[in-house]
Amino acid sequence: MSKKRVNIIGAGLAGSEAAYQLLKRGYSVRLYEMRPQKMTPAHVSSSFAELVCSNSMRSNSITNAVGLLKEEMRHLDSLIMSAADHSSIPAGSALAVDRETFSQRVMETLQQFPDLEVTNDEVTDIFDEPSIYATGPLTSDALADAYSTLPGLAKLHFFDAIAPIIAYDSIDHSKVYRKSRYDKGDSSDYINCPMTKEEFNKFYRELIGAKTTELRGFEDQKVFEGCMPFEVMAKRGAKTLLFGPMKPVGLEMPDGKKPYAVVQLRQDNAAGSLYNIVGFQTHLTWPEQKRIIQMIPGLENARIERYGVMHRNTYLTSPNFLNKFYQSVQLPHLFFAGQLCGVEGYVESAASGLYAALNMDRFLSNQPPLDFTKETMMGAMAHYVSGANPQNFQPMNANYGLLDNSQLEKEERAKRSLEIIDSYGN
Ligand SMILES: Cc1cc2nc3c(=O)[nH]c(=O)nc-3n(C[C@H](O)[C@H](O)[C@H](O)COP(=O)(O)OP(=O)(O)OC[C@H]3O[C@@H](n4cnc5c(N)ncnc54)[C@H](O)[C@@H]3O)c2cc1C
Repeated sequence: MSKKRVNIIGAGLAGSEAAYQLLKRGYSVRLYEMRPQKMTPAHVSSSFAELVCSNSMRSNSITNAVGLLKEEMRHLDSLIMSAADHSSIPAGSALAVDRETFSQRVMETLQQFPDLEVTNDEVTDIFDEPSIYATGPLTSDALADAYSTLPGLAKLHFFDAIAPIIAYDSIDHSKVYRKSRYDKGDSSDYINCPMTKEEFNKFYRELIGAKTTELRGFEDQKVFEGCMPFEVMAKRGAKTLLFGPMKPVGLEMPDGKKPYAVVQLRQDNAAGSLYNIVGFQTHLTWPEQKRIIQMIPGLENARIERYGVMHRNTYLTSPNFLNKFYQSVQLPHLFFAGQLCGVEGYVESAASGLYAALNMDRFLSNQPPLDFTKETMMGAMAHYVSGANPQNFQPMNANYGLLDNSQLEKEERAKRSLEIIDSYGN
């Protein structure tokens, strides 16, 4: 008997995870990925699961919401998590990865399955066959228009920005020091560029006057708070920076003195030749990025290997359309996953792909859906996406506020969540 086939559209974080989960359950998967035939404005390669901006998957602690989500995924044999753990590089208590090794691992694992068929075409239609749409925030226009024809589905958007990456060998090491905040993790994980009050004030004055790129539609200022451009944050006041990305607490200098402000650099690749400027996502023009970055002590001669840019992100009114299993209520052969359906972040996107695939399996094998409940982070995110108020629906990161059992300590809630996940097995 031939194997049941599922189409997966988009080989990003969500689509790659969904493909793995279905392939290992014996399905044949046709994976549509339009790159490299057609690129998005942010992706730069043809790799699966490309990380378009930061190389961090955030905290690994289970008392942190995204840390718990990652642990749930590990308990469910997540491909994205095993590839991330395999390619991790030092980043204190966070999980950061070498982005190339990470994507390579995802691709190699998927390509080992003979029942994977990859098609590098742009999909512009809605299929009548079982399909998981995971085309992400940079979904091509033609497909985004096709989504709008589905009952109850409309496309919304917000903006978010990418931080610049600089070359390690262009940093002046006599002015910077290595330390992670409060010495969590290995103290050599971050490079810190300290500023005096005078240096900060001068930097701040120049930053708020710096030129930004024009972006059609950005006038409505729909920026995702978690990825707000640095210069937009600065315009809210100097303290927004001093209590935000430039906060000095826990980053005393080697002589024990506390700097007035700090710019942190995080290793971006395993070779350690590239560093990300933490929290400096920006849509300044490129010459202005260079001018502002080179005002930072230690970065006077910084070579920028990738400039920051800003993009329009598409997402859908999922609460009008999906049930709590990422499945269309009216067209049950269709599932939606990833940032497109209203989760936000690499890990959250991959987690939704995993959950959608498990439920696609249930659907195709005529079993009742798998309900992880709101006691798990994975279940709670799916509840949010399907049950939020559609009038002001906005993409959401994992957070403990979504989870049931708020009277319990976080450790207890995390333990309970993992017990539920384990009772399903993998
Ligand atoms: C500019 C930017 C910066 C971001 N920075 C971060 C960050 O630093 N940290 C973080 O946690 N999250 C970040 N995000 C948010 C989000 O986590 C990522 O976008 C994540 O990659 C979403 O995963 P996904 O699987 O939903 O989509 P993606 O990973 O984008 O995958 C979607 C795939 O679908 C393909 N595709 C699109 N349309 C079609 C079509 N019509 N036919 C076939 N294929 C198609 C695309 O080429 C892509 O490979 C950022 C998003 C953007 C846009």
